[in-house]
Amino acid sequence: MSKVFKNKLLRYLYVFLFLNPTILPVNSSSALAAWSLNSNGVLELRTKSNTNLKAYFQKSNQLYGDRFWVDFPGELKNPRTLKGNGPIKEIRLGKPKRGKTRLVIEFKEETYLNPLTWRMIGLNQNSWRIKLFKPKYAFKKIGEGFVEKKVEKFKVNRNSNYLNKRGHDFLELPNVKENKFSVVIDPGHGGPDPGAIGIGGIRETDVVLEVSKIVEKLLSQKGVKVTLTRKNEVDLDLPPRVSFANKTNADIFVSIHANASRGKRRDINGLETFYFKGWKGRSLAKGIQKQILRVSPGSPDRGVKQGRFYVIKNTKMPAVLVEIGFLTGRLDARRLEKPTHRKRIAYAIAKGILEYLSKVR
Ligand SMILES: [Zn+2]
Repeated sequence: MSKVFKNKLLRYLYVFLFLNPTILPVNSSSALAAWSLNSNGVLELRTKSNTNLKAYFQKSNQLYGDRFWVDFPGELKNPRTLKGNGPIKEIRLGKPKRGKTRLVIEFKEETYLNPLTWRMIGLNQNSWRIKLFKPKYAFKKIGEGFVEKKVEKFKVNRNSNYLNKRGHDFLELPNVKENKFSVVIDPGHGGPDPGAIGIGGIRETDVVLEVSKIVEKLLSQKGVKVTLTRKNEVDLDLPPRVSFANKTNADIFVSIHANASRGKRRDINGLETFYFKGWKGRSLAKGIQKQILRVSPGSPDRGVKQGRFYVIKNTKMPAVLVEIGFLTGRLDARRLEKPTHRKRIAYAIAKGILEYLSKVR
């Protein structure tokens, strides 16, 4: 693991899920009602209804092992520490500041966690779960109270369909003037040319087509005219993509690709966006790169670069080519095979495009 990668991980607060936040008065009691870290490595929480939870992860340092913690509104009465077993060093309940409760799970040093796969799931308005580790040896459950008490039947928040969830600022797409802009989205490769083939046979052509179609949908919803250079698995050479784009008189051209590393090195991951020339192209590339990084925590920022790719070199309008991750990289491939992540990447690209259209154009 490179140093850069580690530092990135530190800065990203990984797991987030917010329901309607209720502001509790400072002196109210803790919203955490019960918790249990089960023998299968799943942490279950019961809270007051409509609690706003924030969860964080931090890699180990000289003082602490790897730590996962959740902050709850409301003040804890008795700060306490519980001894762990198995991979857990200890569990602390504290008040980081007045009016707050913090549940900290500290892991032993030799534990290998993969926080990038963690998802906090809201089961209903009162209960939450997250799988933190896969126990190698018998792990004895630790907990306080009954996590399953008083479970109300409310609408389930089970899937992490980010498209429908409010409260993520990266999901709030900016508005632009309707029926004013036109964008060409170019899903790379297609047909007999699958593009990069990654871990487990994941194919670039499939990933980028799906992402492109979601981008199309999102932009259309904002009143932007979108044309795709291909809508299915057809063989499409580069020149027709360019002449097609040039004929549409679109404002911008965005080609979507996924990477592969030479020798299929699993340790090479990251995102990059290319433009050919001009400040407009660079500005669009920067905006998209910034957004896709936000939804890809831990994956390296390979930067915004000038590139001489045919499709961005020969298009008349500001044009970029975005590489949304390495299908041969362990971290990126695992994500890009998930529909949820493809949606998030599509959101990010759409956001970069809309911000560009609203500011630069
Ligand atoms: Zn490609």
